[in-house]
Amino acid sequence: MKVWLLDNGSIVIEHTQLMWNVPGEQVRIPVYSVLVEHDEGLFLFDTGFDLDHMNRVLPFELPERTEEQTIPAQLESCGFGLGDVTAVVNSHLHIDHVGGNQLFKGTDVRHLIHELELAQACNHEPFEFFGYSDKSWDYEGANIETFSGDEFELAPGIRILHTPGHTVGHCSVLLEGEQPMLFAMDVAYTATAMERGIQPGFHHTPVDGVRSIARVKQVAEETGARIFYSHDMDEWRGYRRAPEHYEV
Ligand SMILES: [Zn+2]
Repeated sequence: MKVWLLDNGSIVIEHTQLMWNVPGEQVRIPVYSVLVEHDEGLFLFDTGFDLDHMNRVLPFELPERTEEQTIPAQLESCGFGLGDVTAVVNSHLHIDHVGGNQLFKGTDVRHLIHELELAQACNHEPFEFFGYSDKSWDYEGANIETFSGDEFELAPGIRILHTPGHTVGHCSVLLEGEQPMLFAMDVAYTATAMERGIQPGFHHTPVDGVRSIARVKQVAEETGARIFYSHDMDEWRGYRRAPEHYEV
């Protein structure tokens, strides 16, 4: 498997969002997607944020995203177009993970979402309003399929793990191979947060969040996978970014 990390820009959040109840200065965090080339297809995990929507709903998060950081431009840098993508999998339906879904309008891409996440986004709690405010995933003609349960094998060696807490249907992604990669997604935003067991300030069910952090750590230990963090600027700077890639 070949894996590319697609840069989708950055936003600014409060430190207490980065780590629940831990005060500190505001931080600029990266947003990125993960592209996987597999024998069974080309899979895209998450699609970043929609700049116009962010500027409308959360301007105080100071979103930054250049033309080069859009999904089409990032795919192109890897030699692909939107029509080459077999399936888009959203780890969850928050604003910074679904913004590019709408770009697939007119393609026959499959959109895969955990059934609990889809249900929650359609009928969320009042405090989840901002997170679920971008309905890009629900474009006309979107070919949405749900999966369910604790674990789902998308293709041999691509395991989607249900890791709730941050959101009800949140998922992490394990890529198995000689050099396994574990994308924790928003279970914990940074390496330090994971290490200290601190979930994001935003969460639906914190007790689930604690368990999901434990699960990610356990899976990493059992498989020897390297954990990749969704919103850690220091880690991000050290990652290979598209068009560079990882070989799993
Ligand atoms: Zn996020």
